[in-house]
Amino acid sequence: MHIHDFQEMMRRLYFSRDIERGTKGNYSWLVEEIRELEEALDKNSRKEIEREFADVLAWLVSLANTVGVDLEKAALEKYDRVCPKCRTCPCQCKF
Ligand SMILES: [Zn+2]
Repeated sequence: MHIHDFQEMMRRLYFSRDIERGTKGNYSWLVEEIRELEEALDKNSRKEIEREFADVLAWLVSLANTVGVDLEKAALEKYDRVCPKCRTCPCQCKF
């Protein structure tokens, strides 16, 4: 499944609720899920880490749907097989 397909699936599942919640509401949920991912990483619980990554991706996609961004298109426009800064793969940018 591509990111675009996942985003369309999430649109079918949740779009009406996402629109009702609004951009700020969806953004707040994304931030909350990132915080929960941090907790899972701190606990080093593989199952929880996987679940929280799934939640972060789901809320990121919901937020993108709310503002009409095609996440796959946006990601591949910026990260098209090379680093967007140094234009090489792997990245040669200095830390
Ligand atoms: Zn680079």
